Amino acid sequence: MEGLIMNYPLTTTTILEYGNSVYHHKKIITYLPDGTRQEYRFGDLYKRCKKLANALTLKLGITKGDMVGTFAWNHAPHVELYYGISGVGAICHPINIRLTSDQTEYIINNSEDRVIFVDATLVPLLEKIAPLLETVECYVLINAPKDFKTSLLITIHYEDLLEEQSEHFEWPTLNENDASGMCYTSGTTGLPKGVLYSHRSTYLHASNIISPNAGNYSNLDTILLIVPQFHVMAWGFPYLCLLSGSNMVLPSSNLQPDVLIKILQEEQVTKANGVPTIWLGVYDAMKKNPPKEKLALEEYIVGGSALPKSLIEGFEKDFGIKGVQAWGMTETSPLGTVSRLQSLHTHLSDNEKLNIRAKQGTAFPGVELRIMTDEGTLAPADGKTMGELQIKGAWVINSYFKTNNQDGFTQDGWFKTGDVSTIDKDGYMEIKDRTKDLIKSGGEWISSVALESALMAHPKIKEAAVIAIADEKWIEKPLASIVLVNEKDTISDSELIEFLSRDFVKYQIPRDYVYINEVPKTSVGKLDKKEIRRLFAEGKLS
Ligand code: AMP
Repeated sequence: MEGLIMNYPLTTTTILEYGNSVYHHKKIITYLPDGTRQEYRFGDLYKRCKKLANALTLKLGITKGDMVGTFAWNHAPHVELYYGISGVGAICHPINIRLTSDQTEYIINNSEDRVIFVDATLVPLLEKIAPLLETVECYVLINAPKDFKTSLLITIHYEDLLEEQSEHFEWPTLNENDASGMCYTSGTTGLPKGVLYSHRSTYLHASNIISPNAGNYSNLDTILLIVPQFHVMAWGFPYLCLLSGSNMVLPSSNLQPDVLIKILQEEQVTKANGVPTIWLGVYDAMKKNPPKEKLALEEYIVGGSALPKSLIEGFEKDFGIKGVQAWGMTETSPLGTVSRLQSLHTHLSDNEKLNIRAKQGTAFPGVELRIMTDEGTLAPADGKTMGELQIKGAWVINSYFKTNNQDGFTQDGWFKTGDVSTIDKDGYMEIKDRTKDLIKSGGEWISSVALESALMAHPKIKEAAVIAIADEKWIEKPLASIVLVNEKDTISDSELIEFLSRDFVKYQIPRDYVYINEVPKTSVGKLDKKEIRRLFAEGKLS
């Protein structure tokens, strides 16, 4: 027997409607790339989303199921795009601005974006690849001066697009399982893969994060959204702010620690998000130049890479600001776990409490975790037995965009994360390693395989193996170990950096090189990265 409850679709438009009806007075503040501050209310956002919906359908001919790209920083128009695009039944596809031209071209062609909304300051990155983009019919320029010059064909200014449109728009009735957004993950081997979020997954993910057991967001908060909108839909924050009634502060490209501190102070920000590299920078800057008045900031939520224990401790001791660790993936919307203490931990020592907070944490209600050992057995929840972390739940991917194969999934329907973890008796998961051959530096992925094949194309190099090593600022950075064709040859680091800069962007290029006689191999002849990491840890690679 079915329950006798309305089938009320959980869509992004219901979030927007709710935000407008209950929190129309709440603020969206943007710091534009040139530092200018702009402010309006959720009520204004609502009206502008409706104008945008009219423009998308009437002027740009966007219909249900169309893919619409964004290539932009965090700012109010980008939030309007999140709601406007998915509201008309199309799919909002934020494109990572930090990828190589090849990756960006691949992603846009693969997703079949019909229109791209692009920040004026980012236009040069698209100009380079525009002739290769097969499906893009038009570019909409955001924050561009009237006389802005570009080689992009068929452009229109965002404000001009909205200006002519009515504030009245009847949202179409959408199926909550329809796609609402898409982000590509480069956290996999091979080509980037599209992850298609649904309205329902977006709604459930956002409404869960608000809980006091998770992000703890309410209408008393002002949240600084540092996580880029092109990273997993900004971790769902543009949605959750409308549900919780939290003021939103959007920094666009103002991500330098000193500027972030100024924004935290001026806007009386109470909560914020970001990868560890951002918070390490903010902490160092605050240590060097302590703010005269205590910040309103109560806590910052960190994910993307492990939150160092020393940072949790330092921020709390020196400034009374709490670090909260979360774990997730593009494939999991992203948030899968969060680490907060519970009543059962009250009696523990400070150090024991810190050890728990430095774990990746417990699953959100709505997702389940399990750890499978190399032998294919379920690992006990003993906090010791390591294995691959697997996840399933209401906002976890069940297949990648445009792929029919089930690579990355178990036969019984769990998603294989590629992270190696333990889980303890209270359900706290801790990441120990990863099986993915990738390096995560400052929140962005670097493919070690791509670097190895590029290095091996150098005439003097016979073999190369790239591993991740720890770095204070970037958490991880690449180290390349190289075997030369001719032992007597030499190559300078700068020659290699120059060589790699043809195919890689700056943050992806290793600055550390070591020369070895032979790359260690496994029994089946693969590069033995574990052994290289061991040699490095023991100081035997130099
Ligand atoms: P992405 O899909 O780019 O968001 O990357 C997801 C991956 O980032 C995960 O599979 C982990 O390898 C890593 N990651 C995310 N959050 C954490 C965390 N809190 N601690 C350690 N690694 C993390």
